[in-house]
Amino acid sequence: MAEPLLVAEAIDVRFGDFQALSGFSLSVRPGTIHALIGPNGAGKTTLFNALTGVRRPSGGRIVFDGHTVTRAPVHRRIHYGMSRSFQVTALFAGLTVAENLRLAVQAREAGEGWVFWRGPGRRADIRAEVGELLARIGLSDRADERAGGLSHGAQRSLEIGMALAGRPKMIFLDEPLAGMGIDDVHRTKDLILSLRAQMAVLLIEHNMSVVLDISDRITVMARGRKIAEDAPAGIRLHPEVRAAYLGS
Ligand code: ADP
Repeated sequence: MAEPLLVAEAIDVRFGDFQALSGFSLSVRPGTIHALIGPNGAGKTTLFNALTGVRRPSGGRIVFDGHTVTRAPVHRRIHYGMSRSFQVTALFAGLTVAENLRLAVQAREAGEGWVFWRGPGRRADIRAEVGELLARIGLSDRADERAGGLSHGAQRSLEIGMALAGRPKMIFLDEPLAGMGIDDVHRTKDLILSLRAQMAVLLIEHNMSVVLDISDRITVMARGRKIAEDAPAGIRLHPEVRAAYLGS
């Protein structure tokens, strides 16, 4: 089995006297879809924040692709290949879908030093890359629509597209299916499945039928700790998970 891409060991996060994460450990392998589930307040968002550099842990260690990033700033983690899906507020509502993606591609290129080299050839490359991203997120026929006018589901797809523009090795998706209708759920599920060929996916998601369907591995959290971790078949049988999610 491949070495883990992300290893978090014994992560502690405190808010004053409150311990939101206690000695939490997690490994994510490349090319896998790994889901985090658990009731509200379990610590899922806090874990995302610690892993992506938004919240500094008070204890523990985080290694990504051989780099110790426990205290690394967000931009360094992005440089190493960690990408968190943009939130809706990060979209430029007044720009078109294609323009939003072009900005995300250009942001990556600026990080790679391309910014001083962009000539006509580069512009054609960017156009081609935006076209591929549009196809990937299923928005090719809406390239020229304003992002602000898209449905909620299409906006979430665009956020994922903008994260993909950074060519990450691992993508963090925070409730990618929240508030979606059934068609958008199916489309987004297929999009997430397609990511596995190129990257690791860590997702927080409450839609248990989709989580059980697409995940390679599922970690169950409660009160800042891991209470179970297994493949979907094992998670289905776990007593606490059955009680909390599966109605039995
Ligand atoms: P989840 O994402 O699983 O719903 P969170 O990570 O958002 O859980 O929250 C875990 C716990 O940490 C909750 O009890 C929450 O109230 C607390 N918490 C989260 N952020 C803060 C904060 N900035 N200050 C104080 N407590 C917080």
